[in-house]
This record gives sequence, C-alpha cells and structure tokens, in this order.
Amino acid sequence: MRVHADVERCRGHGVCCRLAPEVFALDAGSGRVRVLAERPAPAQAEAVRSAVRRCPTFALEVDDPGSPAPAS
Ligand code: SF4
Repeated sequence: MRVHADVERCRGHGVCCRLAPEVFALDAGSGRVRVLAERPAPAQAEAVRSAVRRCPTFALEVDDPGSPAPAS
C-alpha cells in the first residue's frame, strides 16, 4: 500500500490523524496533512483505508486499496 495526500485539498480537519496517527499528522506550519509513512505497515492498512473513506475533502488516496498487484 502506498499513501498519497493532496495537500491542496486538505482543510486540516484532522480526521486522518485521529484514525491513523502513525501515518498522518498535521503540519505545524501549514495546518495541513503530512504523510509520515508513505508505505505504512500492514497493521496500519485498515486504519489508513478508514481515513481515506472519512476524509471530508477526499484528499487521501491509496494505490492498492485491496489485493496485491498481479505478477507480470
Ligand atoms: S482528514 Fe482530510 S482534510 Fe482532514 S487533515 Fe486529513 S487529509 Fe486533511
């Protein structure tokens, strides 16, 4: 799983930071989200998915929300 945050969309609600504090934080200067772990540990995956779903501005994405990529 790889996490991407669109800081232009972020309005600093902090929902993601409460749900996955090891992955998201608010930047003290800008007040917007900062990704602490672009590739979070598997144990964080469900919290990250929950943050993606609940972000009120749709600022968060993950590149592999479910199953692993097929081998090529
Ligand atoms: S939940 Fe969304 S709007 Fe709120 S801090 Fe996180 S990324 Fe920003």
